[in-house]
Amino acid sequence: MSDVKVGFVPLSTAPRGVLVVFCDDGLKLGPVTRRSLGAAADLVKRAAAASEFKGKSGSAIDLLEPEGIKIQRLIVVGSGKSAELKEKDFLKLGGVIAGKLNAASTEVTVMAEHSGGPMKSGQAAAIATGIRLCVYKFDRYKTRKKDESAALHAQVSIAVNDVGKSNRAFAPSAHVIEGVEMARDLVNEPPNVLFPEEFARRAGALRKLGVEVEVLDVKAMAKLGMGALLGVAQGSARPGRTVIMRWNGAKKSDAPVAFIGKGVCFDTGGISIKGAASMEDMKGDMGGAACVVGLMHALAARKARVNAVGAIGLVENMPDGNAQRPGDIVTSMSGQTIEIINTDAEGRLVLADVLWHVAKKFKPKFMVDLATLTGAIMVALGTEHAGLFSNNDELAGRLIKAGIETGEKVWRMPLGPEYDKLIDSQFADMKNTGGRHGGSITAAQFLQRFVDDTPWAHLDIAGTAMGAPKTEINQSWGSGYGVRLLDRLVAEHYER
Ligand code: MN
Ligand code: ZN
Repeated sequence: MSDVKVGFVPLSTAPRGVLVVFCDDGLKLGPVTRRSLGAAADLVKRAAAASEFKGKSGSAIDLLEPEGIKIQRLIVVGSGKSAELKEKDFLKLGGVIAGKLNAASTEVTVMAEHSGGPMKSGQAAAIATGIRLCVYKFDRYKTRKKDESAALHAQVSIAVNDVGKSNRAFAPSAHVIEGVEMARDLVNEPPNVLFPEEFARRAGALRKLGVEVEVLDVKAMAKLGMGALLGVAQGSARPGRTVIMRWNGAKKSDAPVAFIGKGVCFDTGGISIKGAASMEDMKGDMGGAACVVGLMHALAARKARVNAVGAIGLVENMPDGNAQRPGDIVTSMSGQTIEIINTDAEGRLVLADVLWHVAKKFKPKFMVDLATLTGAIMVALGTEHAGLFSNNDELAGRLIKAGIETGEKVWRMPLGPEYDKLIDSQFADMKNTGGRHGGSITAAQFLQRFVDDTPWAHLDIAGTAMGAPKTEINQSWGSGYGVRLLDRLVAEHYER
C-alpha cells in the first residue's frame, strides 16, 4: 500500500530530498524558487536546452543529485501559460508530480510558485488534491513482496505563501478525496467479496460520521411494493438490499437534496445473458452506488451545511431457476407495470423503485441519479464525458459547470415524447428496452417515468466510472467518478 502524506510549509523552507519546482513556457522560474536553487538555476537552463524542454504544461525534466544544491533530485515541471491555468490544470500538475515519485522519494518539497510569484492557496490545494488522487492504489489482494517494494512512502511538503490559508483551502478537499478513495475501493472490489449485504454493511460505516443509515431487506422492500427491483434480485442466491443514508447538516425544515445510485454488484445480464468477453468488468456495475456512498462520506466528513439523502439499490443480476424471464410483467412501487423484454436492462428497473421511493418519502429539492446504465453512452460520448439527462435546465446547467471545474465532465443529451413512446408496451404500461437506436435516451426516458415532477438529472456513467483510460489524477480501474462533481454541485449551490 502506498502511503503519501501531503502538507503545507512556508515557501522559505529549505528543501530536502526531492525538490519539485514549476517553470512556465518562457522557461521562467519564480523569484523564491530561483533563490533556493542558487547555482543550480543555471543547471536547469542547460538541462532544458539539452532536452528541448519548453515548459509545456505537464512536461518535466528530472535532474539527479544536481550540483550547487543539497538535494537528491530536482524535478522541473512545466506549467505552460501560468496565468491561464484553471483548477483542473492544477489538479493535473499534482498528478504529474505524483507520477514522477518512486520508492526512494521519501521526502518531497514542492515549491508552489510560478514565474509571477506564489500560487494562491486554492491552487496549492488543488496540487495537493491531484497528488493524492494520483497515488491511490488498489492492491489489497496482491500478496507478493515485490509489489510492496515499489510502493510509495512519502511526506510531500507543499511550500506556500500562506500555510494557514492553504490548510483551510485543502481541509474540505481532504474529505472529498477520502470519498473518492472509498468509491474507487468499492468499484475495484471483486464481486465474490462485495455483494449486496456486504455493500450495505460497508455503507453502514458512515454512521461513524453521523450519517443515519437505514437498510431495507427483501421483506421491507416487498412491503413497499418494490416489484421492479425485486424482480431483478430474485435470480440471485444473494438477496438484494436498498440502503438509505441521511446527512442532516442544515435546518430540519430544509428539503434535502437527493442522490440515487445503481448498485448492481454483478451483472451477468440474467437470462438475457451477456457474452463471456469482459464480463468480469461487470463487477463495476455498482459504480453509481459507490459514488453515492463516497459522496455521503465527503458531505458528512466535511460537515456540509445541507440535508442530503443518498439511496442505493443493491442487487446481483444472475440467471437461475428463480430468475425473471423476458416476457415477465412486474409491478413497480409506483403502481406502473413493466414488461421485461431484456433482463440485461436491469439497472433502470432497480432505479425505478428507488427513485420513486425517494421522491415520495423525502420530497427532495432535486434528485440526481448515477448509473453505469448503457453501453450506448460509450458509443455516443466515449469515456470523456458522462451522459446527462435532465428535466430541469437550472440543475443541468449547474452540473455542466461543476463538471468543467472539477474535470468530471458531463454532456447533455436529449429527452422528449418521441423517444418516450419507444418504451410503450403492448402488454404493460411500458417495456424495459426501447430498441438499439438511442439506447441511452430510452433508458433515461424510462427513469423519467418514475420521478414525477421532481427536478431530476440522470448521469449515465458507464464510460467514466470504470475502465476509462488512465489520467494524471486517476490510475485506478474504478475512477470514483462523480464524487467530486456532486460535492461541488452541493458546495456551490445548496449550502447555506
Ligand atoms: Mn445489464
Ligand atoms: Zn447493468
